[in-house]
Amino acid sequence: MACPAGAPVFGTLVVVGPGLIGSSVLRRARARGDLAHRLIAVDSSEQVCARVRELGLADDATTDAVAAVAQADCVMLCVPVGAMGAVAATVVPAMKSGAVLTDVGSTKVSVIEAITPSLRADIAYVPAHPMAGTEFSGPDAGLVDLFEDRWCLLTPLECTTRQSLRDIRTLWERCGARLREMTPSHHDRVCAIVSHLPHLLAFTICGTADNLAGETRSEVLDFAASGFRDFTRIAASDPIMWRDIFLANKVALLEMLGRFMEDAKAMGQAIENGDTAYIVSRIEQGRAIRKSLKENRQA
Ligand code: NAP
Repeated sequence: MACPAGAPVFGTLVVVGPGLIGSSVLRRARARGDLAHRLIAVDSSEQVCARVRELGLADDATTDAVAAVAQADCVMLCVPVGAMGAVAATVVPAMKSGAVLTDVGSTKVSVIEAITPSLRADIAYVPAHPMAGTEFSGPDAGLVDLFEDRWCLLTPLECTTRQSLRDIRTLWERCGARLREMTPSHHDRVCAIVSHLPHLLAFTICGTADNLAGETRSEVLDFAASGFRDFTRIAASDPIMWRDIFLANKVALLEMLGRFMEDAKAMGQAIENGDTAYIVSRIEQGRAIRKSLKENRQA
């Protein structure tokens, strides 16, 4: 049954990990009032819970995950992908029969593999990935409109009931997201090229610049405006989160890195050979992608 307009999708929504993504969901839920009737944030740090209370992001913030999820109609896991398995092992056994489990992890195959051993027949699981973010972390970093017009990719499984999928779709639609469903492995290949490889390149180029000796390095810092600056924004992202993503999506990421290295080598060869047609064609390809991104409201 579709959730009637204005009625909360869930009675109680528990967000485990009220960081950038989790606190953005909480902010949106607070602002709209129709994502859930009651909001609970769970974090292992009492300090983070106190901050969540101070910011008024939830009705309750607690370090007691088991007690919190026992009240939940929906539990949303917003922790790093490498922590999903251990967190699911703690919370799933304590969940109410008929409740919905969902996650926001940036990789899907590994997260599903990590969560699956904890699943129960009476819990519906809806894997999701909102494709939105910033380089900041923690409960202060969240934004009420973070997901506005951004894609949220859903990778339903056999244990995803129709009703749970409908409810999670409604939740993300009310967060402002556009939705697409795909298989977990297709998701991981898509994200390897559009998100994970660009982060790998940004971390690497910043490292390369930093490794340059003396004067050149300070000039990098002084004159970074011309292109390098855009890489530094991405490279400011959380190290633990990205370590986990790279390792969790190893196969797809290494495949895309291999393809990229071949293309970069070809560009180097074209520069070496003065192959102007090749150089221009690749730059034009880049411009065309930027243009279509703008048309698709993703720029
Ligand atoms: P974040 O701001 O760093 O928040 C992570 C949250 O998880 C914090 O509440 C943190 O608690 C908690 N946490 C960290 N390690 C944990 C562990 N071992 N066990 C239990 N809780 C733990 O990260 P985020 O950017 O919101 O990312 C959260 C999830 O969203 C990740 O799975 C990520 O892949 C996904 N995601 C991120 C983006 C993005 O661009 N940032 C976009 C889409 C999806 P403490 O603060 O107490 O450590």
